[in-house]
Amino acid sequence: MQPVMDDEEDESRADVSGEIRLPATLAGTGPLPDKAEIVIVGGGVVGLAIAYYLARRGMQDVVVIERGYLAEGASGRNGGGVRQQWSTEINIRLMQESVELCRRFAVDLGVNVWFRQGGYLFLARSTAEVARLERNIALQNRCGVATRMLDPEQAQDIVPELDLTGIVGASYNPTDGILFPWPFLWGYARQAAARGVKIFTQTAVTGLEPAIVASAAAGGTGGFTVHTPRGSIKARRVVNATGAWSPQLAKLVGVDVPTYPIRHEICSSEPLKPFLRPMVSELASGLYCSQSMRGEIVGGVTLPGHESTYAMGSTLKFLSTYARRLVRLMPILGDIKILRQWAGPYDQSPDGNPVLGPAPTHPDFFLACGFVGHGFMMAPIVGKLYAEWLTGGAPHEIFSRYRLARFTDGSGAAQPKEDFNIG
Ligand SMILES: Cc1cc2nc3c(=O)[nH]c(=O)nc-3n(C[C@H](O)[C@H](O)[C@H](O)COP(=O)(O)OP(=O)(O)OC[C@H]3O[C@@H](n4cnc5c(N)ncnc54)[C@H](O)[C@@H]3O)c2cc1C
Repeated sequence: MQPVMDDEEDESRADVSGEIRLPATLAGTGPLPDKAEIVIVGGGVVGLAIAYYLARRGMQDVVVIERGYLAEGASGRNGGGVRQQWSTEINIRLMQESVELCRRFAVDLGVNVWFRQGGYLFLARSTAEVARLERNIALQNRCGVATRMLDPEQAQDIVPELDLTGIVGASYNPTDGILFPWPFLWGYARQAAARGVKIFTQTAVTGLEPAIVASAAAGGTGGFTVHTPRGSIKARRVVNATGAWSPQLAKLVGVDVPTYPIRHEICSSEPLKPFLRPMVSELASGLYCSQSMRGEIVGGVTLPGHESTYAMGSTLKFLSTYARRLVRLMPILGDIKILRQWAGPYDQSPDGNPVLGPAPTHPDFFLACGFVGHGFMMAPIVGKLYAEWLTGGAPHEIFSRYRLARFTDGSGAAQPKEDFNIG
């Protein structure tokens, strides 16, 4: 049995020298161990957050297996937005805790993630959107989030460059923010590895073989043999943190996960002198943009008729739609040069919320997927709560609320709907 520690008891301080030294296993070298207590498949932010928090709680017999490089999936392709403006209490409260973890990240993990709390400004172009924002604000305020409703002129006080034509209102929470995604993963990876977690990149999981020792009804404590081209590991528990590829991994044990990949495009401009503090998001078009600490304008827009695809190509249609919407909202950006454009997969779940907890037929196969367009911001708190549970703590409410069976047993339909699944 592994020792279990509270976070507060972990006295090891992070190396804050700023140098990022990753262990040799991250280069895909070294032999795989024969066995492990937990194998986490997927080296994105979700898998690495769970691994880090497991290690912090004293569980060292943990292996992370990533088929490419860390941040190869959505975690290395996203906008880095972190917000508490949601429409259900559970997501608001989760994100309050995640924001706190993001705020402490640099000190706790010893890497600068350029987290900047410049707020999130959501812009409404109709009275129906204003009513929606007002409803959400009332709930957010009850939870202790200081979001407030603004008239267009007050929104312009925050972003003077806005063209107010057609804007009828806005919501603004000053403690939402943005971060730089990549070092976030490096921080988790380095600190997990320093505490004994073995992380293997360039290693795909190609098979999951349930051990035939106990039936699911008897508790299914047999675990799995995890097969890769570099060898196999016997694992007592497996966590599926493969993002948009989670249905494929789950299929290896005959579990149906009803999420599907949706390509989202995003781009980044040349660096500009700092002028834009908040993330700005337009509800109607799904346009969002923020200015990074390096000065780039990073943003995207929702294209109608999203394809379900793993293709990661970029399109001219995205660029022209984004350019039109951005310049309508902030004409000052008319001459901006776009330097990079890329795409990544949302792991779209049917109700927009994640899929967590064990698969009903395989109690040792845990799901951590379906995070749509908000997995980065949720990863810190979900990773922490998962680790608490897997090391013997009581399961948080999210593990029953967001369980896989909600899509088949009707319980999902009875839950409050999250309708702020945007930007
Ligand atoms: C354009 C865009 C913008 C976004 N903006 C935001 C935002 O502002 N804020 C926010 O919170 N979220 C945002 N998101 C969503 C966020 O990026 C994701 O929800 C989050 O990164 C999901 O993390 P993950 O670890 O679950 O998945 P991923 O990062 O995709 O990681 C899964 C990993 O599993 C690996 N893998 C797959 N199959 C196997 C296998 N068989 N064996 C081994 N490894 C395997 C993959 O290579 C991949 O690295 C955005 C996403 C996109 C695409």
